[in-house]
Amino acid sequence: MTQLIVHGGAGHGIADAERVRKEIALVLKAGMMRLQEQGSLEAVIQIVQGMEDNPIFNCGTGSTLNLDGEAEMDASVMTGDGRFGAVAALQRVRNPILVARKVMDETDHLLLVGDGALQFARRWGFVDWDSVTPERRKALEEMKEKGSPYFPHLHQHFKDTYSTVGAVARDDEGKLAVATSTGGITGKLPGRVGDSAICGAGTYACSWGAVSATGHGEEIMRHMLAFRTGQSMKFLKTSIAIQQSLMEKPAFRVGLIGIDWRGNVGLGYSTKAMAWGYSNDEKLVLF
Ligand code: ASP
Repeated sequence: MTQLIVHGGAGHGIADAERVRKEIALVLKAGMMRLQEQGSLEAVIQIVQGMEDNPIFNCGTGSTLNLDGEAEMDASVMTGDGRFGAVAALQRVRNPILVARKVMDETDHLLLVGDGALQFARRWGFVDWDSVTPERRKALEEMKEKGSPYFPHLHQHFKDTYSTVGAVARDDEGKLAVATSTGGITGKLPGRVGDSAICGAGTYACSWGAVSATGHGEEIMRHMLAFRTGQSMKFLKTSIAIQQSLMEKPAFRVGLIGIDWRGNVGLGYSTKAMAWGYSNDEKLVLF
């Protein structure tokens, strides 16, 4: 059976939940067709690309902004056979996930950052694109008013609302793939790289399972949350592996989605809410 699960971020709440539900349903429906026709990798790329083009999500156009008001984006893709590609702190590209895919397909590297990633993107024909929206500018201004910009616990001022996107798919042949994309956290220091670009932190796939994370990236990276969860899927069903990861770190503000090698789908979060959607050959379920 083909399986697809998507998240649109975990956090304190979900702004405009009805619209988010509708948008997730749309990408899931299109993603299921792609999954059936072209397999798991093409499906997760298509879904994340679609979400990057939708300013309601924190990735691509509509990414949250760093302290200087710039959209510095992180994205990664991984397949169950261990192929991985990522970009981090990438600016002025419409679809970071497509650049991450190029890193995976066309280089021996795993991760390109900043100017190097931008030069690489341009060489592959990704044209200049402004990802900054007025809504995200306003959010940055509000955040700056609430707290000192260089206060180390800056993010406490912001109400823990994350809206990174991720997709995990398992196709007819049992092949797994995962993709994650984000603008990071509003008011982050320029140059900050979050979990969504790091293999094993926000994105991980192996023969046992595939996982995408959302939430406070520093916590996710410190404990390599996607890797830990994916590895434990060798013996545990996805939902139990996710619950175990969340119970091990109860103070974390994170959300996880995944699919294991047997085709078990799961999700969990330690925040108040997470936007998610799931689809298989027979049904579509939304948060
Ligand atoms: N995990 C992302 C980051 O820390 C934020 C999010 O999930 O929205 O960059």
